[in-house]
Amino acid sequence: MVFKLFKNADELYDEGKELLKRGEYDKARDYLQKSIDKDGGPDDAAAVKVALIDLKDRLTNVNAYQNLLAKLEAFNEDRFEFGLSEVSRSELITECQLTIRKIQLLSSGGEGQQLMDKAQKLQQLAQDYQAQIGDRHLIVLELFKNDTSVTGMSEFFNLMAVSYECMSDAVVWENPAQAAEYEQVAMGYRQQNGQSGDTNMAKVKAYSTTCTCWLCGRIATGEGIHFYTAPADVSPALDDKDKPTARSRPDAPGHIYICRACYSAVSNRSDEISREYYNQAVQEMRAMEMRLQAQIAALQSQIAFARMSR
Ligand SMILES: [Zn+2]
Repeated sequence: MVFKLFKNADELYDEGKELLKRGEYDKARDYLQKSIDKDGGPDDAAAVKVALIDLKDRLTNVNAYQNLLAKLEAFNEDRFEFGLSEVSRSELITECQLTIRKIQLLSSGGEGQQLMDKAQKLQQLAQDYQAQIGDRHLIVLELFKNDTSVTGMSEFFNLMAVSYECMSDAVVWENPAQAAEYEQVAMGYRQQNGQSGDTNMAKVKAYSTTCTCWLCGRIATGEGIHFYTAPADVSPALDDKDKPTARSRPDAPGHIYICRACYSAVSNRSDEISREYYNQAVQEMRAMEMRLQAQIAALQSQIAFARMSR
């Protein structure tokens, strides 16, 4: 029997495959990488598997998906094994491409028109998930999270909801009633996806609530954006519960509605007053500190004098 000191690339690769089946990803990666170093090429199945393992803990990292995508595009088999699963190369390529777009889009910010553009792209992406993955579940989540609940369709509903939420954010400053309509649509998509849609409902309610400002009498729509609820001492004689148009206080007692303009004027003025008091207090503290320092110095010289004359 010949004692074999070094394993060849195929043996290393097979060892890596076995470790993958047992879910020992780090060890599997070592063996697969060694087999690539010995005998691998860019079109190697081992390269695809290493890229997949590297993705495992970086599921929101664009570079990890781009790396996997490059390895898959260079690879020329239709299907390959990964652990106990069999993976379709073309399906995984599609999933990588869509996921890269999704991560990039969701991490982009902006306001106004930028948000409207983002919403448009999110809808396009949602439709691509629907058309290209449909009822199939996402491969990566199955491989690493054992989760087969996320499908092309659930991604479609989710992204459509996010798209309408983006549009709502884009217009709420100018047009809260329109924002409330967008939130309503978003809620529908969330509910079709098995979510409660409670956050959307709360926004629909807030954005479509109209009030009369207690201070200036203007009508404002959009609670939390264009008007606020503020604590106040409302005596019964002042109450306007039966006012037919927009209310100037909520049902909760001891509160009134204030429009954004009045609210900001009052709070800016109160900030100014607080700042004046603060500066005054600091000044008085400094004066007191100087007086105390002077007294301490006087006492110290008296003690020194007493010691000398002992
Ligand atoms: Zn007002």
